[in-house]
Amino acid sequence: MVLHQHADGRSASDIHIHPAVDGGVKPGRSDFAGGTLHCHCAQDRVEVTISGNTAHNHVCGCTKCWKPSGATFSMIAVVPRDHVRVTAHAEKLQVVDPAAAIQRHACTGCGVHMFGRIENTAHPFYGLDFVHTELSDQDGWSAPEFAAFVSSIIESGFPPDRMKDVRVRLHDLGLEPYDCLSPPLMDLIASHTAKSRGVLAA
Ligand SMILES: [Zn+2]
Ligand SMILES: [Zn+2]
Repeated sequence: MVLHQHADGRSASDIHIHPAVDGGVKPGRSDFAGGTLHCHCAQDRVEVTISGNTAHNHVCGCTKCWKPSGATFSMIAVVPRDHVRVTAHAEKLQVVDPAAAIQRHACTGCGVHMFGRIENTAHPFYGLDFVHTELSDQDGWSAPEFAAFVSSIIESGFPPDRMKDVRVRLHDLGLEPYDCLSPPLMDLIASHTAKSRGVLAA
């Protein structure tokens, strides 16, 4: 059965989201104890060691997150910042945009973002680092749960007339598409704002 077939033969299943999910989302393991991420350099690879599993993994359509070539979305998760250590070739890392809320530490050799860190203590996500677990050879990292900033892929040149197919494909993969973050994360941000304004008890 072919669902969502177009007259020109294209269908939602032709849409490439990200290599890690295009063949179906692989479940994570709740007992996964963490592992290492490596950049794409052939030698002198930057290594980041993460203790414990990640959370809130998702695919992201924004133009800021690093993604592998050919991917429409990035895949990104969070982890407490004190669970993240650079364990090899820290000298190759450089912050992509020091003015951005999330400081993305990228390898100057291959361009891969090894972790994103928030230094503003008033930011709702302060204390969490952003990482791409596809940079690990290990299995068990938390599985992506939703798709964030879906409409933003148009800003990277994705044809607007195929957005319906993208949302159908994401939905079929179990990655509910949102044009901001997921409802729990948007609630978390709004709660943080309300507490900082004294509208809600801290
Ligand atoms: Zn590299
Ligand atoms: Zn993003």
